[in-house]
Amino acid sequence: MDFAELNEKVARVFSHFRMKHPGQDTVEQWLEDLGYIPDEAGKWIVRKICNESDGMPRNVVKTFKDLWMAYKSENPDKIRKPEAEFCQVCGESGLIWFLYHIAGHKSPHESFVRCGHCKNWMRAGVSEEIPIMTAGEIKRRGCRLHWRNNKRRHRGSLERTVRADLGKLIDLGAA
Ligand SMILES: [Zn+2]
Repeated sequence: MDFAELNEKVARVFSHFRMKHPGQDTVEQWLEDLGYIPDEAGKWIVRKICNESDGMPRNVVKTFKDLWMAYKSENPDKIRKPEAEFCQVCGESGLIWFLYHIAGHKSPHESFVRCGHCKNWMRAGVSEEIPIMTAGEIKRRGCRLHWRNNKRRHRGSLERTVRADLGKLIDLGAA
């Protein structure tokens, strides 16, 4: 969950029990302890608290963590990749970045695909529209691999970049 996702869940729980929202600073603090919980599991946790708890949890962080454990044991199929899978090609981001040239453009364009060497993209929540390719397939299309592949990136910024680059990616497919 990113800040907005956690904040929305906290707001739902607090309003369910007719409590005042604890404030953005508190949510920011909780994010450090709860940010690793996927958004889908977070939604399940909120439903669980609202439907099954008699009152407002005394310790929100502990309750979320306990219910995250419960979610994992009840939904083993949804927790396929809890840990990053080691991948030398994509640097464990699950995406392979590359550079390609468009006729008439001086500087190369940047784009990316889902990594064909690992399944780390499952953890990043990347759109299914983005093709899966291996480094070899990218090179065979005349594209160069980008050094960015060696860096890990934050999930939030990754999703923004995915949206920003989707148009360029479709261009490449049509070319
Ligand atoms: Zn990979």
